[in-house]
Amino acid sequence: MPVKNRFAELLPEITEWRRDLHENPEILFDTHRTSKVVADRLRGFGCDEVVEGIGRTGVVGVIRGKTDGGRVIGLRADMDALPIHEQTGKEYASKTAGAMHACGHDGHTAMLLGAAKYLAETRNFDGTVVMIFQPAEEGGGGGKEMCDDGLMDRWNIQEVYGMHNWPGRPVGSFAIRSGAFFAATDQFDITLEGRGGHAAKPHEVVDTGVMAAHLITALQTIVSRNADPVDQIVVSVTSMESSSKAFNVIPQRVHLKGTVRTMSTAMRDLAERRIREISDGICGTFGGAAEVAYHRGYPVMVNHEEQTDFAAEVAREVSGDCETAPLVMGGEDFAFMLEERPGAYILVGNGDTAAVHHPEYDFTDEAIPAGCSWWAGIVERRMPAA
Ligand SMILES: [Zn+2]
Ligand SMILES: [Zn+2]
Repeated sequence: MPVKNRFAELLPEITEWRRDLHENPEILFDTHRTSKVVADRLRGFGCDEVVEGIGRTGVVGVIRGKTDGGRVIGLRADMDALPIHEQTGKEYASKTAGAMHACGHDGHTAMLLGAAKYLAETRNFDGTVVMIFQPAEEGGGGGKEMCDDGLMDRWNIQEVYGMHNWPGRPVGSFAIRSGAFFAATDQFDITLEGRGGHAAKPHEVVDTGVMAAHLITALQTIVSRNADPVDQIVVSVTSMESSSKAFNVIPQRVHLKGTVRTMSTAMRDLAERRIREISDGICGTFGGAAEVAYHRGYPVMVNHEEQTDFAAEVAREVSGDCETAPLVMGGEDFAFMLEERPGAYILVGNGDTAAVHHPEYDFTDEAIPAGCSWWAGIVERRMPAA
């Protein structure tokens, strides 16, 4: 089963949908227009059930096969854009200043709509497919909101699959890996409290700047001295704000922010514990104090072995090959869905384009037939018509 002919036929139409979404990007949960467009199209395809408002602005479309042996598969696409000002110069570039589909979620939504149109036309499977369109993948946890809204139980979803385009891979080629795949993404805020004062009287102050300098350096030892070298972990301090902008004032307070990326709960726990210990220790040494807030974000995204093998098999049928993907230290909130149900997440090549989250990035429409064929293959192969 190479690319399905029907998707080659539908390519101009699906490309039009994709470019319409691209022109009208919406951020986080504010995908009101996008959700309406998706729901209207799903109804137009003749889906058996279309429900809006799952996980605030999420949309679900249900398609029943010719027969129903009781199996239910969920297929998930994300719909949200990013707060980036587009610089592609394309004729279908974003019409909203400061918002842009820079991660290709416009392509993901269009491909899943294409698969929905085909599956509603053909219904050549035994069971039910639940099309899941989620908002707020980019930091808002829209996937978690949909799960918390009862997504999995309401439709009795048994397995769930997801896909992301990947710049730098040949267009329409696939890559996947079993087990931990995308990192857990946590944030930390550290407030350093000293005693501010005149910069010419260092003996009378507790210098938060010196504390911050030592602390930022010491935090590097979590990766280099505390973590087992074979484990993956990133600790990055990304922001430093002082309560004074003057050249002659020692600030009373300095605020650090940063991110932690890990591939296991053990590493996550280690990072949180050491950030607290090192902050207290360093600040205490200099006579100040630290207040640490550690926020756990998306969990590690773990692909389930059986579903990963199956997803790779379908990908090989579509594109002839499916490589083993490297670990990704970025986060992906499909992790929440994979915590609730077994499933797998695959990468589809976007060709030699700018990286995702770059203002010159664009989804490659030529990848659509491969992506749609993989979706359809998952359904038709996992739930073959009786
Ligand atoms: Zn992204
Ligand atoms: Zn993305």
